[in-house]
Amino acid sequence: MEQRTILPDCCEDWILTYGKCYEEGEEFRCLECGTQWVKTGEGNYRRGSDKRAFVERSRTRGGEEYPYLAPQEGPEPVTQRCCARIILRHGQDTKVEHFVCPICRTEWRREMVARGGVNVPCFTRPDLAEPLTIQQGKPRPFLVPVSRHSPPHE
Ligand SMILES: [Zn+2]
Ligand SMILES: [Zn+2]
Repeated sequence: MEQRTILPDCCEDWILTYGKCYEEGEEFRCLECGTQWVKTGEGNYRRGSDKRAFVERSRTRGGEEYPYLAPQEGPEPVTQRCCARIILRHGQDTKVEHFVCPICRTEWRREMVARGGVNVPCFTRPDLAEPLTIQQGKPRPFLVPVSRHSPPHE
């Protein structure tokens, strides 16, 4: 079993936007998915459900700061937030087959793969064992390995 350190995009947005406003020790919820969190210190947060701790980090590129949350222990998410956002926003429809993330400079390739009778866009990079695809989910779409993709429910 791989470790599930993936953080819902909505929680990451919520914490990066509002996290500074909470007091240390204060509990709060992401209003989009309802997940319970507690702020354990400056830039430190713990999820209520599995007690997993996340830390605010950032990358700097061209003088701009791009914050993200990383698990305090264990592997970083397989896909950086910067790349995930770009793929989730543009990946479905873009005609560009090869692109580089402007922030972390990861190179990606996009190709269409047949899954259950429909073609879905898949995204690969050299160090990834299995391509990723976009899974429609609630409240938001997210990235999954293509073998775990399931067609959206009606
Ligand atoms: Zn959330
Ligand atoms: Zn990136």
